[in-house]
This record gives sequence, structure tokens and C-alpha cells, in this order.
Amino acid sequence: RPETGLARQAWVVLLAGALMAGGVVLALRALSFDSEVHRRYEYALTLSQAALEVQQTSADLRAWQARNGRELPRTADPSVSASEFAALGQLAGYLRRRLERLAELEMPADHHAKLAPLQQTLLGFERIARQATEPGGSGSEPSRASLVASSAEFDSLEHSLTELVSSTHARAAASARQAEGLSDTARVALIAFSATALLLALTLIGLTLRTLRANNALLDRMSQLAQEDGLTGIANRRTLDETLPVEFARARRSGQPLTLVMMDLDHFKRYNDRRGHAAGDALLRGAAQAWLKQMRPTDLLARYGGEEFTLVLPACTADQAAQLVDRLRPLTPDRQTFSAGVATWEATEPPTELLQRADRALSLAKKGGRNRTMIAGRELQATLPLEIAATS
Ligand code: GH3
Ligand code: MG
Ligand code: MG
Repeated sequence: RPETGLARQAWVVLLAGALMAGGVVLALRALSFDSEVHRRYEYALTLSQAALEVQQTSADLRAWQARNGRELPRTADPSVSASEFAALGQLAGYLRRRLERLAELEMPADHHAKLAPLQQTLLGFERIARQATEPGGSGSEPSRASLVASSAEFDSLEHSLTELVSSTHARAAASARQAEGLSDTARVALIAFSATALLLALTLIGLTLRTLRANNALLDRMSQLAQEDGLTGIANRRTLDETLPVEFARARRSGQPLTLVMMDLDHFKRYNDRRGHAAGDALLRGAAQAWLKQMRPTDLLARYGGEEFTLVLPACTADQAAQLVDRLRPLTPDRQTFSAGVATWEATEPPTELLQRADRALSLAKKGGRNRTMIAGRELQATLPLEIAATS
């Protein structure tokens, strides 16, 4: 059944394909997850670097407040020297730019909310410092209360930064753990998928081989059926027609005699009429199979048609053929008799001529009273007395 074999192979191929696709998807997912983890680690590093710089600068500003025992100056206070204002302004500008960089990073909204007002304050303070140090600048411009940055503000900034950095680090570490788990799973899955795919491939090869073998057996059986006669199981007319030219060529090459025998069951119509057609069939089969056992491997016994059979006997003379036919007579079931015509090929004769000569010899055997063998070319001796008897 080659069709079912094909269907099974299609399923195996489909399954293998699905497994491979699954493996590839999982591997790609693990890869993209790895790159995401890499991105998070990089972010955590950048953030902690920026946070460190912010903390350092805010600590400097706080140190100034501690040293002077006061908050950052509100206006261009005359008790603070111009150079000190310049230094403070530089520090404030530096801190503001660090905060700006920090604000550019991706972070929770509440952290953004904490950064914004401090940036505003620092911007204001920078402005005051600039006015105070500018030659001829109006040192008396009033400032707004919001411009004042207190130590408490820096404290809260530092606290929230620390929180942000540690939560980011924790997130990156968690991602790394997840990635590790995922790539472990992917590795195991890939190994499992590969093993399964290999198994499926082997199964596919096995199935294909089995189908091929089944198909070959089918082909063998079909060609055997094409060469065989359905009723008797011996060679059919087609095989005979194919064999004859080969045997003629061989005989021509080897110089060995080639003999043909035509055999026809006697009064077989009567046999059928008396015993029935099924019994007639059984006799044809039984006779053919019994005769076949007497053949040499190089001989051919074929059913010429109806109750007629042909023997092709390479390397066999007419007399040897007649002896063989005599050995076949007692093997025919039910004491059924047959007549035979024997002809040996003469090298100059066309192949069709040989068949006709054998057929004519068979007719003479029938005329001669049936249940006998007639050799072509020796009819005269055999038939002469009969003809004389007929005419006298
Ligand atoms: P003869 O001795 O002259 O050969 O007489 P015959 O009856 O054998 O010859 P005839 O040609 O008159 O009849 C041949 C018979 O063989 C006719 C047919 O019933 C029978 N026959 C041919 N082929 C088959 C077959 O395949 N099965 C059976 N059962 N009988 C067959
Ligand atoms: Mg006949
Ligand atoms: Mg007959």
C-alpha cells in the first residue's frame, strides 16, 4: 500500500518541520532576551555613574552650606565674595547639567518629578551668581524664595537617587537571572528538538525504504503477472514471443540445435463436455505444472493458447525432444493424451517457418491418430503408409 506510506511520510516531515521551527523560534527568543538584558545592564551602569556624579556635586554644595552655616545665598549677598559666587555658580551649573543628563535617562515618573524643581532652583541660582560676578551687575536684584536650595532638598535628592540606582540594579540582576533560565531552557529544548528531528529523519528514511521495497515487490509481481499465463502459471504467449528471437540468436551464435515442439490436447472439447469447464481448467493447470517439473532451466514451456502448448528447447535435437515428449505423456493428469509436432531449426530458415513446420507436424500427428509425436522432415516415412492406406 504505497499511498498510506506516503501519507505517513508527509506527517513525519510536517512534524519534523514544526519541531525545527519551534526550536528556531525559541533560540531567537533567547537571543533577543539576551540583548535586552545587556541593554538593561548598560542602563544600570550609566544611571549609577550619573547618580554618583550628582551625589558628589550636591555633597560639595552641602559642604559649602555647612562651612558657612547658612543656605545658599538668595541674592548677590555682599558678605559672599565675588570669587566665591563664581565658584558656587560653577558648581550649581555643573550639578544642573548632571541632573539634565539624568533626566534624559528612562526612569520612573516620581523621580522625574523630584528632579524638575531642583533643576529650576539651580538655574535660578546660576543666574544670581552670574549677576553677582558680572562687573557692574546689579547686585541688588531680589530673588524669589524658590531659588533657595536647602540641605534637606539635596538629602531627599540623594535618597531618591540611591533608591533609583538600587532598584535599577535589582531589575538588571533579575533580568540576567531570567535570561540564564531562558537560555538554559532553550539549550535543553534545542537538544531535544534536534534529537527528535534526527529520530524523525531516521523514521522517514525507514518509511521511504519500506515503501521502496514494497513498490519493488509490487513491480516484480506485476512484471511476473505480465509474463505468466493466469490459468496455468506457466509462461504466456507474450513471453514465448519475446523468448524466441533471443533463442534464435543464441543458437545462431553457438551453432547448437534449437528445437520447437507444439503440443495439443486430444479431444479436449469432449473432455470439457463430459467433465465440465472447471475440470478442463484444472486439467490444463495440472498438466502444465507436471510438465514444467521435467524442464531444464534453459527450456521454456509456454501456453500457446487454448489447449495448445509450446516447448522451446535449446541445445536439443529432434530425437531428444521426442524422448522428452514421451516422458511428459504419462505425467498428464486423468490419462489425457496429446499430440505433438517437433521441428528443429535449420540455420537458413526464418523463425516463423520453424513454427509453421512444427504446427504442420502436429496436424499430421492428429491425422495420424493422435496421442503421438511427429518430427517435421520425417513425415514422408511416417505418413506414406497412411496415405497409401487412404487411397487404396
Ligand atoms: P483435437 O483432438 O482435434 O484437438 O480436438 P479438440 O476438441 O481438443 O479440439 P478443438 O479445437 O475442437 O477444441 C478445443 C477445446 O479446448 C475447445 C475448448 O472447449 C477447449 N479449451 C480451450 N481453452 C480452454 C480453457 O482455457 N479451459 C477449458 N476448460 N477448455 C478450453
Ligand atoms: Mg487445439
Ligand atoms: Mg485439441
